[in-house]
Amino acid sequence: MAHNGTRAGIPNAPAAPTATIPFPAIPTTAPCKQHPDWYTHEESSSSQARQDIADARLGCAACPAAKKCLLWALANPDLTTVGIWASTTPYQRTVLRNRLVNRLGRNWVDVVQLKEKAKAERRAADRVDPPSVHHQALNDLHIQVTGRPLPWQPRRPVSAELAQAHREVLAQALRPQGVAA
Ligand code: SF4
Repeated sequence: MAHNGTRAGIPNAPAAPTATIPFPAIPTTAPCKQHPDWYTHEESSSSQARQDIADARLGCAACPAAKKCLLWALANPDLTTVGIWASTTPYQRTVLRNRLVNRLGRNWVDVVQLKEKAKAERRAADRVDPPSVHHQALNDLHIQVTGRPLPWQPRRPVSAELAQAHREVLAQALRPQGVAA
């Protein structure tokens, strides 16, 4: 069994994480923290090693940090020369790195980072915030006064026109019954 650094309860805490790919935050319940010995084999050299690697892979398959862990492991070959990381063996990581270089070029880490950033920005832009309590109260009032719901436009800045429309609805709502504008 080959050991790399100290995996005692911590999955090989990186000595020098790259600036662009930080080591992901992993839960204390992550299998590599619970069973560090499963993750230290270099190859299936014995039936015990084969069983441990199979168990490690099952653990990684259910790990919420697997995608980030794999990216970090691929971007840090010097820190992941042995052991199982995100279900991969050292040989598999080398194959994956070579594929990434062929597909994206030598600066594949930067390319992947840029893609991930763009994806995160798209997700943030697509996010629909639920109506606030304030909006719901205003909506109830709008229905009472106009009979129509207030259109919900998340992330729409409150323009001068919209503020004026709100004021008119409020003024109408506050006007005593039977008094014309
Ligand atoms: S993917 Fe595997 S090696 Fe990576 S943090 Fe999760 S359990 Fe640990």
